[in-house]
Amino acid sequence: MNFSSRLLETAVNELARLPGIGRKTALRLALHLLNRPAEEVELFTRSLMALRQEIRRCKVCGNISDSDTCEICASPKRDHATVCVVQDTRDVMAIENTGQFAGIYHVLGGVISPMEGISPDDLNIVPLIEKSSAGTIKEVIMALPTTVEGDTTAFYIYRQLENKGVAVSVIARGIAIGDDIEFTDEITLGRSILNRTPYPTGMQR
Ligand SMILES: [Zn+2]
Repeated sequence: MNFSSRLLETAVNELARLPGIGRKTALRLALHLLNRPAEEVELFTRSLMALRQEIRRCKVCGNISDSDTCEICASPKRDHATVCVVQDTRDVMAIENTGQFAGIYHVLGGVISPMEGISPDDLNIVPLIEKSSAGTIKEVIMALPTTVEGDTTAFYIYRQLENKGVAVSVIARGIAIGDDIEFTDEITLGRSILNRTPYPTGMQR
C-alpha cells in the first residue's frame, strides 16, 4: 500500500494488528473513523483506553470485572456453593445467556497445554482448590472445552479436589469434540448444564 499520509499509514498498521483485520479492512476502518465527528472518535478511543486501564480481575472468581468483586460473586441471589469452572470470560457470558445457571463461576484464564507451555501454575487453579478446601463449596462443575487440553485440565482439577468433600461434575455435551462452549447454542448449552453428570463418569463418550 502506498500511503499519501504517514498518519493514515500508522493508523492502518495499528488496526491491522487486531485479530481478523487485514490491511484492506484496516484502511476502510481508518478512513471511516476519519469521516466521523471528532467527539465520536474520542469516545471510541477513550472506551478502549478505559477497557485496558480500568478493567480488573474479580478477586473471587477471576472473571473480568469493573470492581474488585464481580457482580455475580457479589450477588446474594447466586448459589455460592455451586461453582462452574470455565476457561475464560466468553464462557461465563455464554452460560449466563442460557439463564440456566444460578451458581457462581471460577475462571481459569486458559487450559493446561504442554504444547503451548501452559502449566497449572500459569492458570487460576490454586484459589479454586483453596476455596474448595475451606468447605464452603458443595459442587464444582467442569465446563471446559472438549479438547485434549480441556480434558487434561478437568482431570488435573479433579485430582486436586479428591477427598475434599466436593462433588465434581461435568456438563453434558451434545456438541462435537473440539468445539468451544462459546459456540454452542444457548438451548444446548443450558440443557448440558442441567444434565450434568458426575466426573469422571461423564467424561466417557
Ligand atoms: Zn467474581
